[in-house]
Amino acid sequence: MSVRVVILGAGFGGLELSTLLSEALGEQLEVTLIDKSDAFIFGFSKLDVMFGRKVPDAVRLPYRNIVKPGVYFRQEAITAIDPEARRVTTTGGTYEADVLVIALGAEYDLHATPGLIEGGNEFYSVPGALQLRDVLPGFTRGRAIVGVTSTPFKCPPAPSEAALLLHDYLTARGVRGACEISLVMPFGIPIPPSPGASQALLNAFVERGIGFVPDRLVRGLDPERHVAILDDGSELPYDLFLGVPKHCVPAVVAASGMAVDGWIPVDPKTLKTRFPSVYAIGDVTSVGTPKAGVFAEGAARTVAAAIIAGVRGSASAAAYRGLGSCYIEFGEELVGRVDVEFLAGPPNGRFYDPSALLVEEKRHFGASRRARWFGISGPDPER
Ligand SMILES: Cc1cc2nc3c(=O)[nH]c(=O)nc-3n(C[C@H](O)[C@H](O)[C@H](O)COP(=O)(O)OP(=O)(O)OC[C@H]3O[C@@H](n4cnc5c(N)ncnc54)[C@H](O)[C@@H]3O)c2cc1C
Repeated sequence: MSVRVVILGAGFGGLELSTLLSEALGEQLEVTLIDKSDAFIFGFSKLDVMFGRKVPDAVRLPYRNIVKPGVYFRQEAITAIDPEARRVTTTGGTYEADVLVIALGAEYDLHATPGLIEGGNEFYSVPGALQLRDVLPGFTRGRAIVGVTSTPFKCPPAPSEAALLLHDYLTARGVRGACEISLVMPFGIPIPPSPGASQALLNAFVERGIGFVPDRLVRGLDPERHVAILDDGSELPYDLFLGVPKHCVPAVVAASGMAVDGWIPVDPKTLKTRFPSVYAIGDVTSVGTPKAGVFAEGAARTVAAAIIAGVRGSASAAAYRGLGSCYIEFGEELVGRVDVEFLAGPPNGRFYDPSALLVEEKRHFGASRRARWFGISGPDPER
């Protein structure tokens, strides 16, 4: 009988893991990949949608395109996880696993920030990005804040990217002079693991007149007075608030008892949880890397190697290193890149200056995943 691998979540981590297992072992494994959604959307596509650079249909990658030997995709909501028994209950049935991998990502708790729903916007979910696409055209004068409400949060460069792209958006519409942009970040510099990238971002903020408020979180909004309340009690007036909401594990993970202090703890070298033959990868863990797709992919590679070695009876896989390359939108149609390793001593991200070459490289990053995971070739749909 083939080994039954059940992967919960078809995001960056689950898609990469199922692809690697299929490539290496095909029908030797029975891989069940479960997600409640009918399509995958890259995190960075939310910025494209909110600024009207792409329509939602152009960024959706339907799971029905997954055709891989040994992989069975199920569009079902996971309602219970029993990590001791490696049993998973969904809206469609029950799955028993020899190897269980939790790749359910991070969700958002919009209620955790008072006033956010009533008086602000968030750009981290697809509905939030869609709403902003309709709100932004109405913003023609006043004060905009891009603000982080809680840590940890996905893709630490994303708030800086949003501020820079907002500058471009307002400039293109001829209203930048009537608008202020401030960025509230919980760090002293925009991307602490990369002083080079941080300095380049700080320079870009100065050049564009974007205010940088370091070491602060937005604790709440007072929609009546139009002020954002920061964690030191100070206030910033706003007319448009673009927030990064509080992150949390999906409710089914919280109910499973697997999370400790909010996230699933794993052995950082192996991604094993404390339950035998149960792994966790990506944003749902507290592995010690930022929450980003490239790190979820790297974790998937480590787990894939361990599962493949187990099936083949070969030597165990190399340890996870928390290595990744992150692309950073600098606006003005330029993209920079940071290469960083997190689990081998203090990270020191190497920064590559924004360039048109890196725009092309980022495009290739997306296109290569579309091809590998979904079998969709050809250029990225533009609109
Ligand atoms: C604005 C923005 C920009 C970003 N830019 C980048 C970038 O440039 N580079 C980068 O590497 N990362 C970027 N990210 C971060 C990246 O999107 C995430 O870190 C990444 O998707 C995490 O991968 P994951 O596999 O852990 O989880 P996810 O990709 O979030 O996948 C989790 C999956 O689990 C499913 N799921 C959850 N609960 C259930 C349930 N109960 N039942 C069934 N299915 C369920 C979800 O539907 C989802 O498909 C960005 C994020 C944002 C918000």
